[in-house]
Amino acid sequence: MHLPNSKPKPANWKVLLSTPMFLAALLFPISAYAEGESPSPSPSASLIESPSPSPSPSDLEGFPTVYDIDTASSPTVVVNKQRPLYPKTYVPAALKKFPGSSAKLAAPARDALAAMAAAMKSAGAGTLVLNSGYRSYASQKIIHAMKVSQLGLKAGEALAARPGYSEHQTGLAADVSAYKQGCAIYTCFSATKAGKWLAENAWQYGFVIRYPYGQTKITGYQFEPWHLRFVGLEIATDMRSKNLLTLEKYFALPNAPKY
Ligand SMILES: [Zn+2]
Repeated sequence: MHLPNSKPKPANWKVLLSTPMFLAALLFPISAYAEGESPSPSPSASLIESPSPSPSPSDLEGFPTVYDIDTASSPTVVVNKQRPLYPKTYVPAALKKFPGSSAKLAAPARDALAAMAAAMKSAGAGTLVLNSGYRSYASQKIIHAMKVSQLGLKAGEALAARPGYSEHQTGLAADVSAYKQGCAIYTCFSATKAGKWLAENAWQYGFVIRYPYGQTKITGYQFEPWHLRFVGLEIATDMRSKNLLTLEKYFALPNAPKY
């Protein structure tokens, strides 16, 4: 699957910082020109030395520089308790309804989930139900408050993100269950026919189980076998082959157990 939004963001900044025009603009803001001083074409030596050197081709081959993990609309954005969405009230541009559900997903996630649901059904693993997809900042605020009042701060926040910190707000996360298999939004979903099939096959459709068993210290969330995150086929396949369970580990990001 092609990832249209992947781009070498950190590398772009390095390139930009190494251009003399950019440095000149930083050194000589417009107000300085208005006083009739002509800006020196060569910036001071200390500023020339400070930017990183231009990236070598080997820098650009590493996954963390290829994928955009910062922009909220990127299919490879990484959101966790240390990485809120920017802006926190972000709304995805193109949301599509999922068949048989009132929930919506961002277009690539919705299409991939539909393909996965068809494959799950033909494999005899059941009928996939989308319980929750995109959630707005406002609805996440309500869900977070509800979980915290039900379970207390620690257990509540191990399940429900604060508004602006939820993958559901990107439209790329899907809480799923299976028709008449029970355990919807419970950890026992992992023992159902559908839960087992998804754990084994979701990667083939570009999804990862974002909050795997035993990774709470890294992700900040309890085991959620129902919460699938679309990351695209390349990353899902690569994580599988390298046996990397979390996006934090895959992109060499700090653990995010707390806000
Ligand atoms: Zn979820």
